[in-house]
Amino acid sequence: MTAPGPRRPAAFLDRDGVINYNDHYVGTRDRLRWMPGIAAAIRQLNAAGYYVFIITNQSGVARGMFGEDDVRALHRWMLEELNAQGARIDDVRFCPHHVDGTIDAYRLACEHRKPGPGMILDLAKAWPVDMTRSFVIGDSASDIEAAQAAGIPGFRFEGEDIDGFVKQVLIEMQRAAASN
Ligand SMILES: [Mg+2]
Repeated sequence: MTAPGPRRPAAFLDRDGVINYNDHYVGTRDRLRWMPGIAAAIRQLNAAGYYVFIITNQSGVARGMFGEDDVRALHRWMLEELNAQGARIDDVRFCPHHVDGTIDAYRLACEHRKPGPGMILDLAKAWPVDMTRSFVIGDSASDIEAAQAAGIPGFRFEGEDIDGFVKQVLIEMQRAAASN
């Protein structure tokens, strides 16, 4: 199924370390600490005409620390909180699997788990995405590898100024488009 609307570029955002601090296995809202400026960063992407997607490994499910329903409820709440600040996330993909999982049903090597490109490619199929102008932002090497595997640039975010970082990425993407 393809969502209606014109073809647009997409910003694929990692969750832990970009949207919120990476406090490891965050499965409930009480443990979530927002990255400062994240709503402003997402508003920039919305205003620039990008779809904004979250792509996140959540092996805490495979490890029995929380369930898929907990992850979905957390994401629903996160999207509502961001929406209330005028920041729109269009869609979310998470991978609950891990080869070392303790829950049988989730113990597997999944191509959706980053560094695999599965979540990116799945979103690019579900939405009318212009992949030639799309990119990934993540705080780990595996985010950048997933971007490369999907054939799009990956930008490694370090520090805490996500709003300033997104500003620089948008400038860089404009420069790249102008030189083509
Ligand atoms: Mg991360």
